[in-house]
Amino acid sequence: MRLLLLAPPGAGKGTQAKRLSQYYGIEHISTGDMLRREVAEGTPLGLEAKKYLDRGDLVPDELIREMVSERVTEADPKGGFLLDGYPRNLAQAEEASALARDQGITINGAVYLDVSSEELLRRLMARAGTESRSDDNEETIRHRIEVFENQTRPLADYFRERGLLISVDGEQPVEKVTHDIIDSLAARSEAGSEAGGEVGGEVGGEVAIPSPAPDRPPTDGGSH
Ligand code: AMP
Repeated sequence: MRLLLLAPPGAGKGTQAKRLSQYYGIEHISTGDMLRREVAEGTPLGLEAKKYLDRGDLVPDELIREMVSERVTEADPKGGFLLDGYPRNLAQAEEASALARDQGITINGAVYLDVSSEELLRRLMARAGTESRSDDNEETIRHRIEVFENQTRPLADYFRERGLLISVDGEQPVEKVTHDIIDSLAARSEAGSEAGGEVGGEVGGEVAIPSPAPDRPPTDGGSH
């Protein structure tokens, strides 16, 4: 199982990532955790990344690219991975597609946790009171939500157009959210095996994130 997890800050991304990676027995690759570890260890990457993390901005793509591709390459032959926090913008999504294509990796789905901005703000402010993350103060929280809206939310359309989006109501109880995701993935893999392959598709003999307008029926009410 190979999954991407797209979600705004405060949507329960980390929690769902742990639950899903446990359920499927796959590696949980969190770019946020990797970056925080680099910062804590004071590595050159950590020192560079810290100023972006503290402001709630995205760390430059080139700093993320190598970090992610190494982990994905390691995890892929061991049964898959769940990428938590990557891709985060369109450039990274294109990069992820190229990486998948080059390495013959099929993505089963891009899970999107849908939570309103008001609920995100409420949850993050509550969390800021109990945890001490350097990016959990009101100004940075608002900025992170804005960065998500501007840079990451458009990826929902990117993956929808490629037939990979699994959008789930993230305001439901934790267990129900996990359940909905697992159910959607099961339904998709059944549909995929009927069509003769995994969702993600074989494109010209290569497995890849498919291009837009895949040759299966639209799920959102038709094209006319
Ligand atoms: P997260 O734990 O996923 O909320 O990530 C925390 C912070 O790490 C984000 O606010 C960004 O500063 C940085 N970050 C995590 N993943 C990425 C990524 N794919 N691209 C750029 N920055 C990232």
